Amino acid sequence: MEFTFSEEQRLLQDSLRQYAKEKLLPKYAHWDAGHTISREELREAAELGIFGLRVPEKFGGQEVDYVTCGLMTEELSRGDFNYSLYIQLGLIASELLADYAHPEVQAEWLTRHARGDAVIAFGLTEPSAGSDAANITTRAQKMGDDYVISGEKASITFAGYADACIVFARTGEQGAHGLSAFLVPLDSPGVSRQVYKSPGERLTQRGSLFFDGVRVPARNRVGDESRGFQQAMVAFDFNRAIIGLACIGAAQQSLDETIAYTKGRIVFGKPLATFEGVAFQIAEHLSLLEAARLVSYKCLWLKDQGRKHTAEAAMAKWMGPKFSAEAIHACIILHGHYGYSMDAPLEQRWRDVLGLEIGDGTPEIMKGIVAREAFGREYTAYRS
Ligand SMILES: Cc1cc2nc3c(=O)[nH]c(=O)nc-3n(C[C@H](O)[C@H](O)[C@H](O)COP(=O)(O)OP(=O)(O)OC[C@H]3O[C@@H](n4cnc5c(N)ncnc54)[C@H](O)[C@@H]3O)c2cc1C
Repeated sequence: MEFTFSEEQRLLQDSLRQYAKEKLLPKYAHWDAGHTISREELREAAELGIFGLRVPEKFGGQEVDYVTCGLMTEELSRGDFNYSLYIQLGLIASELLADYAHPEVQAEWLTRHARGDAVIAFGLTEPSAGSDAANITTRAQKMGDDYVISGEKASITFAGYADACIVFARTGEQGAHGLSAFLVPLDSPGVSRQVYKSPGERLTQRGSLFFDGVRVPARNRVGDESRGFQQAMVAFDFNRAIIGLACIGAAQQSLDETIAYTKGRIVFGKPLATFEGVAFQIAEHLSLLEAARLVSYKCLWLKDQGRKHTAEAAMAKWMGPKFSAEAIHACIILHGHYGYSMDAPLEQRWRDVLGLEIGDGTPEIMKGIVAREAFGREYTAYRS
């Protein structure tokens, strides 16, 4: 067994940790206050490489390994959790487009995406279909050389300013087997948006996207007709470990800050850190985070090896956000009244991480996947 990053990865880790602390953390609260990111700032983020991680080099990406994608996510999330969302959604879009899109669509959208000129959202959830995503009702009807799409997508990260969305729509029978994916430019006639009042991750402007007879050329279909859901699930698997690491980065930063704080805070004549009631709490959260971190990196390592990683991905997805939210909650309490303040980043991190206990699949659904992998598909209460 080998548990070390390569020399190159360690150097990247050091430089990103520094960058997160110096450049991202000071602006973290700024986005929470409702400021919108400019096109220029998105291009600057692209220079870090966060959009092109899995974009093929011929389209301007880096095509780095999956473990490095996880490392980047964990480190940037220490400074600003929102930036991890650009990586998460960017990875899904890059994988789906690079593997299944028409060459002309790839050339346009992957190139724009890698240089930060196009944010691409992922549109699966609907008002009446979340966990049961196979139940979606948005329809895509073939009309000549086009598809015409009508329906509503709910809770879509970047709904407020994405340039395109990979929209899942029904082209065939009921259930998971009748869905297709389409790259829909969001300046198309018939598209409208509504941004939610979200408790966290406010830079991402999560919201609804409405499609009213939106016409896209047939070449914008991503992959085979009625195979969209199965293809998306492949992209989902490894991204669950990326989500775990995004949350772990925010929680680890909070624990590091809390360790420093409790060493300096004198209570009853001694540093807080010397009380076992304090130190053991931190020790427990460090242990749980390390367990979630290990399963996340193992998942990404398996993906790099081309090996199956579905169970590890689901484990990382429920453990990472849950253990992180609990760790940050403890950090807030251990800071006393200073923790219960919007001037400290702790409560913002807690709100941000909470969203990803739900987003991309809830703990119950993840445990269902772990159980399915352990017991066999015939023992699942529901089938997709
Ligand atoms: C921050 C955030 C970002 C998101 N970004 C996106 C995005 O970019 N694109 C997108 O398509 N979607 C996105 N979503 C939507 C997300 O994927 C769904 O919210 C999620 O899949 C759950 O679906 P639902 O909200 O409809 O809950 P429901 O499916 O209605 O579930 C409600 C509750 O019931 C539980 N439950 C459901 N079925 C079972 C079962 N069989 N057994 C036990 N318990 C069960 C669930 O665990 C949950 O606690 C995002 C959500 C959030 C919060």
